[in-house]
Amino acid sequence: MSDSILVTGGAGFIGSHLVERLLEAGKTVFVVDDLSTGSLDNLARVRDSTSLHLIVDSILNHPMMKDTIGQVDRVVHLAAAVGVRKIIEFPVETITTNVRGTEIVLDCCDKHGTPLYLASTSEIYGKAGDQLDEEHDRVMGSTAHRRWSYACTKALDEFLALAYHQEKGLPVILGRFFNTVGPRQSGEWGMVVPTFVTQALAGDPITVYGSGDQQRSFCHVDDTVRAVLGLLDAPDAVGQAFNIGNEQEITIMELAELVKDRVGSASEIVVVPYHEAYGEGFEDMERRQPDIGKIRGLLGWEPEKSMDQIIDDVVAYYRGVAAG
Ligand code: UDP
Repeated sequence: MSDSILVTGGAGFIGSHLVERLLEAGKTVFVVDDLSTGSLDNLARVRDSTSLHLIVDSILNHPMMKDTIGQVDRVVHLAAAVGVRKIIEFPVETITTNVRGTEIVLDCCDKHGTPLYLASTSEIYGKAGDQLDEEHDRVMGSTAHRRWSYACTKALDEFLALAYHQEKGLPVILGRFFNTVGPRQSGEWGMVVPTFVTQALAGDPITVYGSGDQQRSFCHVDDTVRAVLGLLDAPDAVGQAFNIGNEQEITIMELAELVKDRVGSASEIVVVPYHEAYGEGFEDMERRQPDIGKIRGLLGWEPEKSMDQIIDDVVAYYRGVAAG
Protein backbone atom coordinates (compact mmCIF):
# COMPACT_ATOMS: atom_id res chain seq x y z
CA MET A 1 0.00 0.00 0.00
CA SER A 2 1.07 3.58 -0.59
CA ASP A 3 3.04 5.46 2.08
CA SER A 4 0.95 8.60 2.37
CA ILE A 5 -2.83 8.69 2.31
CA LEU A 6 -5.45 11.41 2.53
CA VAL A 7 -8.58 10.36 4.41
CA THR A 8 -11.40 12.84 3.84
CA GLY A 9 -13.82 12.64 6.74
CA GLY A 10 -10.99 11.19 8.84
CA ALA A 11 -12.38 12.67 12.07
CA GLY A 12 -15.67 10.88 11.55
CA PHE A 13 -16.86 7.58 12.93
CA ILE A 14 -15.50 5.19 10.30
CA GLY A 15 -12.72 7.57 9.26
CA SER A 16 -11.14 7.82 12.70
CA HIS A 17 -10.92 4.02 13.02
CA LEU A 18 -9.33 3.83 9.56
CA VAL A 19 -6.84 6.60 10.42
CA GLU A 20 -5.76 4.70 13.55
CA ARG A 21 -5.13 1.50 11.58
CA LEU A 22 -3.19 3.37 8.85
CA LEU A 23 -0.96 5.08 11.42
CA GLU A 24 -0.34 1.73 13.15
CA ALA A 25 0.76 0.39 9.76
CA GLY A 26 3.36 3.16 9.53
CA LYS A 27 1.61 5.36 6.97
CA THR A 28 1.69 9.13 6.80
CA VAL A 29 -1.95 10.21 7.06
CA PHE A 30 -3.54 13.47 6.01
CA VAL A 31 -7.06 14.17 7.24
CA VAL A 32 -9.42 16.77 5.78
CA ASP A 33 -12.54 17.13 7.91
CA ASP A 34 -14.82 20.09 8.56
CA LEU A 35 -16.00 18.54 11.85
CA SER A 36 -19.64 18.85 10.74
CA THR A 37 -20.44 15.37 11.98
CA GLY A 38 -16.91 14.31 12.94
CA SER A 39 -15.06 15.44 16.03
CA LEU A 40 -11.49 15.93 17.22
CA ASP A 41 -12.33 13.65 20.15
CA ASN A 42 -12.52 10.79 17.66
CA LEU A 43 -8.82 11.32 16.90
CA ALA A 44 -7.78 11.74 20.55
CA ARG A 45 -5.70 8.55 20.55
CA VAL A 46 -3.59 9.65 17.58
CA ARG A 47 -3.61 13.45 17.82
CA ASP A 48 0.02 13.58 18.94
CA SER A 49 1.34 11.39 16.13
CA THR A 50 3.90 13.20 13.98
CA SER A 51 2.63 11.13 11.02
CA LEU A 52 -0.85 12.69 11.24
CA HIS A 53 -1.55 15.94 9.38
CA LEU A 54 -4.94 17.31 10.29
CA ILE A 55 -6.61 19.95 8.12
CA VAL A 56 -9.88 21.28 9.52
CA ASP A 57 -11.57 22.49 6.36
CA SER A 58 -14.25 21.56 3.86
CA ILE A 59 -13.71 19.26 0.90
CA LEU A 60 -15.49 22.01 -1.05
CA ASN A 61 -12.29 24.13 -0.76
CA HIS A 62 -10.97 23.22 -4.19
CA PRO A 63 -7.50 24.91 -4.03
CA MET A 64 -6.80 23.33 -0.61
CA MET A 65 -7.90 19.92 -1.89
CA LYS A 66 -5.71 20.23 -4.98
CA ASP A 67 -2.71 21.14 -2.85
CA THR A 68 -3.34 18.34 -0.31
CA ILE A 69 -3.97 15.62 -2.88
CA GLY A 70 -0.72 16.71 -4.56
CA GLN A 71 1.10 15.62 -1.40
CA VAL A 72 -0.25 12.07 -1.10
CA ASP A 73 0.00 8.73 -2.93
CA ARG A 74 -3.65 7.81 -2.48
CA VAL A 75 -7.02 9.18 -1.34
CA VAL A 76 -9.76 7.51 0.69
CA HIS A 77 -12.85 9.68 0.29
CA LEU A 78 -15.25 9.20 3.19
CA ALA A 79 -16.39 12.78 3.80
CA ALA A 80 -20.12 13.07 3.17
CA ALA A 81 -23.35 14.23 4.70
CA VAL A 82 -24.77 11.07 6.32
CA GLY A 83 -27.62 10.07 8.62
CA VAL A 84 -31.28 9.81 7.64
CA ARG A 85 -32.29 12.70 9.92
CA LYS A 86 -29.57 15.01 8.59
CA ILE A 87 -30.56 14.24 5.02
CA ILE A 88 -34.20 15.06 5.71
CA GLU A 89 -33.46 18.24 7.69
CA PHE A 90 -30.61 19.59 5.53
CA PRO A 91 -31.17 18.44 1.95
CA VAL A 92 -29.24 21.31 0.33
CA GLU A 93 -26.14 20.61 2.42
CA THR A 94 -26.45 16.88 1.74
CA ILE A 95 -26.69 17.22 -2.01
CA THR A 96 -24.00 19.89 -2.29
CA THR A 97 -21.44 18.15 -0.09
CA ASN A 98 -21.97 14.76 -1.66
CA VAL A 99 -22.07 15.79 -5.29
CA ARG A 100 -19.80 18.84 -5.50
CA GLY A 101 -17.41 17.44 -2.90
CA THR A 102 -16.85 14.24 -4.85
CA GLU A 103 -16.53 16.20 -8.12
CA ILE A 104 -13.71 18.19 -6.51
CA VAL A 105 -11.99 15.10 -5.10
CA LEU A 106 -12.14 13.35 -8.47
CA ASP A 107 -10.92 16.42 -10.37
CA CYS A 108 -7.91 16.75 -8.03
CA CYS A 109 -7.12 13.01 -8.14
CA ASP A 110 -7.25 13.18 -11.92
CA LYS A 111 -4.94 16.23 -12.07
CA HIS A 112 -2.35 14.42 -9.93
CA GLY A 113 -3.02 10.85 -11.16
CA THR A 114 -3.81 9.80 -7.56
CA PRO A 115 -5.74 6.54 -7.00
CA LEU A 116 -9.04 6.92 -5.14
CA TYR A 117 -11.13 4.74 -2.84
CA LEU A 118 -14.68 6.15 -2.81
CA ALA A 119 -17.03 5.32 0.06
CA SER A 120 -20.51 4.55 -1.20
CA THR A 121 -23.51 3.10 0.55
CA SER A 122 -26.11 0.35 0.61
CA GLU A 123 -28.68 3.16 0.43
CA ILE A 124 -28.10 3.25 -3.33
CA TYR A 125 -30.08 -0.03 -3.62
CA GLY A 126 -33.07 1.91 -2.28
CA LYS A 127 -36.10 -0.24 -1.50
CA ALA A 128 -34.61 -3.40 -3.01
CA GLY A 129 -34.32 -5.89 -0.16
CA ASP A 130 -32.30 -9.05 0.39
CA GLN A 131 -29.30 -10.75 -1.17
CA LEU A 132 -28.22 -7.51 -2.76
CA ASP A 133 -25.29 -8.25 -5.01
CA GLU A 134 -23.37 -5.43 -6.65
CA GLU A 135 -25.31 -5.70 -9.93
CA HIS A 136 -28.73 -5.63 -8.25
CA ASP A 137 -31.31 -3.16 -9.60
CA ARG A 138 -31.78 0.04 -7.63
CA VAL A 139 -35.37 0.78 -6.53
CA MET A 140 -35.85 4.46 -5.73
CA GLY A 141 -38.88 6.34 -4.40
CA SER A 142 -40.21 9.65 -5.67
CA THR A 143 -38.15 12.86 -5.51
CA ALA A 144 -40.89 14.15 -3.19
CA HIS A 145 -39.32 11.93 -0.50
CA ARG A 146 -36.15 13.69 0.57
CA ARG A 147 -34.60 10.52 1.93
CA TRP A 148 -33.82 9.33 -1.60
CA SER A 149 -31.69 12.37 -2.36
CA TYR A 150 -28.84 10.77 -0.42
CA ALA A 151 -29.00 7.55 -2.45
CA CYS A 152 -29.06 9.55 -5.67
CA THR A 153 -26.06 11.68 -4.68
CA LYS A 154 -24.00 8.62 -3.85
CA ALA A 155 -25.09 6.84 -7.03
CA LEU A 156 -24.02 9.90 -9.01
CA ASP A 157 -20.68 9.82 -7.16
CA GLU A 158 -20.28 6.20 -8.26
CA PHE A 159 -21.14 7.03 -11.88
CA LEU A 160 -18.67 9.90 -11.89
CA ALA A 161 -15.86 7.85 -10.33
CA LEU A 162 -16.42 5.04 -12.84
CA ALA A 163 -16.48 7.63 -15.64
CA TYR A 164 -13.09 8.97 -14.55
CA HIS A 165 -11.81 5.41 -14.49
CA GLN A 166 -13.18 4.46 -17.90
CA GLU A 167 -12.54 7.73 -19.72
CA LYS A 168 -9.34 8.96 -18.09
CA GLY A 169 -7.81 5.80 -16.64
CA LEU A 170 -8.01 6.99 -13.02
CA PRO A 171 -7.69 4.02 -10.62
CA VAL A 172 -10.86 4.02 -8.48
CA ILE A 173 -12.36 1.48 -6.07
CA LEU A 174 -15.96 1.77 -4.83
CA GLY A 175 -16.92 0.33 -1.43
CA ARG A 176 -20.60 0.25 -0.47
CA PHE A 177 -20.96 0.30 3.31
CA PHE A 178 -24.04 -1.38 4.73
CA ASN A 179 -25.16 -0.33 8.25
CA THR A 180 -21.83 0.07 10.01
CA VAL A 181 -21.76 0.46 13.77
CA GLY A 182 -19.33 0.58 16.67
CA PRO A 183 -17.67 2.94 19.14
CA ARG A 184 -17.77 6.67 18.24
CA GLN A 185 -20.88 6.47 16.10
CA SER A 186 -23.26 9.23 17.11
CA GLY A 187 -27.01 8.78 17.34
CA GLU A 188 -27.51 12.49 16.67
CA TRP A 189 -28.57 12.02 13.04
CA GLY A 190 -30.77 8.98 13.58
CA MET A 191 -28.45 5.95 13.55
CA VAL A 192 -30.36 3.28 15.38
CA VAL A 193 -27.75 1.38 17.44
CA PRO A 194 -26.19 4.37 19.27
CA THR A 195 -29.70 5.80 19.70
CA PHE A 196 -31.02 2.63 21.35
CA VAL A 197 -27.89 2.23 23.49
CA THR A 198 -27.99 5.79 24.85
CA GLN A 199 -31.73 5.47 25.49
CA ALA A 200 -31.22 2.17 27.33
CA LEU A 201 -28.34 3.53 29.41
CA ALA A 202 -30.39 6.59 30.42
CA GLY A 203 -33.49 4.50 31.23
CA ASP A 204 -35.40 6.46 28.57
CA PRO A 205 -37.95 4.83 26.25
CA ILE A 206 -36.35 2.91 23.36
CA THR A 207 -37.98 4.30 20.22
CA VAL A 208 -38.77 1.68 17.58
CA TYR A 209 -39.94 3.40 14.40
CA GLY A 210 -42.61 1.83 12.19
CA SER A 211 -43.68 -1.71 13.04
CA GLY A 212 -40.24 -2.84 14.18
CA ASP A 213 -40.49 -5.74 11.70
CA GLN A 214 -38.04 -4.06 9.31
CA GLN A 215 -34.67 -5.77 9.23
CA ARG A 216 -31.12 -4.58 8.96
CA SER A 217 -27.73 -6.27 9.00
CA PHE A 218 -25.11 -4.52 11.10
CA CYS A 219 -21.36 -4.70 10.58
CA HIS A 220 -18.77 -3.82 13.23
CA VAL A 221 -16.57 -0.91 12.20
CA ASP A 222 -13.43 -3.01 12.85
CA ASP A 223 -14.62 -5.49 10.22
CA THR A 224 -15.53 -2.65 7.85
CA VAL A 225 -12.09 -1.04 8.17
CA ARG A 226 -10.40 -4.40 7.60
CA ALA A 227 -12.34 -4.68 4.34
CA VAL A 228 -11.30 -1.19 3.22
CA LEU A 229 -7.62 -1.92 3.96
CA GLY A 230 -7.89 -5.19 2.04
CA LEU A 231 -9.39 -3.46 -1.00
CA LEU A 232 -6.69 -0.77 -0.94
CA ASP A 233 -4.09 -3.53 -1.26
CA ALA A 234 -5.91 -5.40 -4.05
CA PRO A 235 -4.96 -4.31 -7.60
CA ASP A 236 -7.85 -6.41 -8.97
CA ALA A 237 -10.35 -4.25 -7.06
CA VAL A 238 -9.69 -1.25 -9.31
CA GLY A 239 -12.66 -0.14 -11.42
CA GLN A 240 -15.16 -2.15 -9.38
CA ALA A 241 -17.78 -1.78 -6.63
CA PHE A 242 -17.88 -4.00 -3.52
CA ASN A 243 -20.50 -4.51 -0.83
CA ILE A 244 -19.06 -4.29 2.69
CA GLY A 245 -21.49 -5.55 5.30
CA ASN A 246 -22.75 -8.40 7.41
CA GLU A 247 -25.22 -10.92 5.98
CA GLN A 248 -26.76 -11.66 9.40
CA GLU A 249 -30.16 -9.93 9.75
CA ILE A 250 -32.08 -8.72 12.80
CA THR A 251 -35.44 -6.95 13.09
CA ILE A 252 -35.40 -3.52 14.71
CA MET A 253 -37.73 -4.80 17.46
CA GLU A 254 -35.32 -7.67 18.19
CA LEU A 255 -32.49 -5.14 18.24
CA ALA A 256 -34.35 -3.01 20.80
CA GLU A 257 -34.88 -6.09 23.00
CA LEU A 258 -31.25 -7.17 22.64
CA VAL A 259 -29.91 -3.74 23.54
CA LYS A 260 -32.21 -3.53 26.54
CA ASP A 261 -31.12 -6.99 27.65
CA ARG A 262 -27.36 -6.44 27.26
CA VAL A 263 -27.48 -3.07 29.01
CA GLY A 264 -29.65 -4.56 31.78
CA SER A 265 -31.97 -1.59 31.30
CA ALA A 266 -35.48 -1.02 32.65
CA SER A 267 -36.37 1.14 29.64
CA GLU A 268 -39.70 0.48 28.00
CA ILE A 269 -39.78 -0.16 24.26
CA VAL A 270 -42.18 2.20 22.49
CA VAL A 271 -43.39 2.07 18.89
CA VAL A 272 -43.29 5.43 17.07
CA PRO A 273 -45.02 5.85 13.67
CA TYR A 274 -42.68 6.93 10.89
CA HIS A 275 -44.57 10.18 10.31
CA GLU A 276 -43.95 11.20 13.92
CA ALA A 277 -40.28 10.34 13.67
CA TYR A 278 -39.47 11.77 10.25
CA GLY A 279 -42.53 13.70 9.00
CA GLU A 280 -45.14 12.82 6.41
CA GLY A 281 -44.29 10.69 3.41
CA PHE A 282 -41.24 8.95 4.87
CA GLU A 283 -40.25 5.70 3.20
CA ASP A 284 -38.18 2.99 4.86
CA MET A 285 -36.94 -0.29 3.43
CA GLU A 286 -38.09 -3.60 4.95
CA ARG A 287 -34.80 -5.37 4.38
CA ARG A 288 -31.33 -4.47 3.27
CA GLN A 289 -29.10 -7.49 3.25
CA PRO A 290 -25.80 -7.61 1.40
CA ASP A 291 -24.51 -10.41 -0.73
CA ILE A 292 -20.80 -10.29 0.11
CA GLY A 293 -19.72 -13.05 -2.27
CA LYS A 294 -17.69 -10.63 -4.39
CA ILE A 295 -15.39 -9.29 -1.66
CA ARG A 296 -15.22 -12.74 -0.05
CA GLY A 297 -14.04 -14.13 -3.39
CA LEU A 298 -11.41 -11.43 -3.89
CA LEU A 299 -10.02 -11.05 -0.36
CA GLY A 300 -11.45 -13.93 1.66
CA TRP A 301 -12.98 -11.18 3.83
CA GLU A 302 -15.80 -12.02 6.23
CA PRO A 303 -17.20 -10.05 9.17
CA GLU A 304 -15.96 -11.56 12.44
CA LYS A 305 -17.86 -9.64 15.11
CA SER A 306 -21.36 -10.68 16.21
CA MET A 307 -24.34 -8.48 17.03
CA ASP A 308 -23.72 -9.09 20.76
CA GLN A 309 -20.11 -7.89 20.43
CA ILE A 310 -21.22 -4.84 18.46
CA ILE A 311 -23.72 -3.84 21.12
CA ASP A 312 -21.26 -4.52 23.96
CA ASP A 313 -18.62 -2.33 22.29
CA VAL A 314 -21.09 0.52 21.76
CA VAL A 315 -22.33 0.20 25.35
CA ALA A 316 -18.74 0.27 26.68
CA TYR A 317 -18.03 3.35 24.57
CA TYR A 318 -21.07 5.28 25.84
CA ARG A 319 -20.41 4.23 29.45
CA GLY A 320 -16.89 5.63 28.98
CA VAL A 321 -18.25 8.88 27.52
CA ALA A 322 -20.63 9.24 30.48
CA ALA A 323 -17.78 8.61 32.94
CA GLY A 324 -15.76 11.34 31.20
N1 UDP B 1 -34.87 3.41 13.78
C1 UDP B 1 -35.68 3.20 14.89
N2 UDP B 1 -35.53 4.03 15.96
C2 UDP B 1 -34.61 5.05 15.99
C3 UDP B 1 -33.77 5.23 14.86
C4 UDP B 1 -33.94 4.40 13.77
O1 UDP B 1 -36.52 2.30 14.91
O2 UDP B 1 -34.55 5.76 17.02
C5 UDP B 1 -35.03 2.49 12.63
C6 UDP B 1 -35.16 3.18 11.28
O3 UDP B 1 -36.47 3.57 11.01
C7 UDP B 1 -34.68 2.05 10.35
C8 UDP B 1 -33.63 1.33 11.18
O4 UDP B 1 -33.89 1.69 12.54
O5 UDP B 1 -35.71 1.17 10.03
C9 UDP B 1 -32.19 1.72 10.84
O6 UDP B 1 -32.11 3.14 10.88
P1 UDP B 1 -30.76 3.92 10.65
O7 UDP B 1 -31.12 5.38 10.54
O8 UDP B 1 -29.76 3.52 11.68
O9 UDP B 1 -30.21 3.39 9.27
P2 UDP B 1 -30.88 3.11 7.83
O10 UDP B 1 -30.67 1.65 7.62
O11 UDP B 1 -32.31 3.47 7.85
O12 UDP B 1 -30.09 3.97 6.89
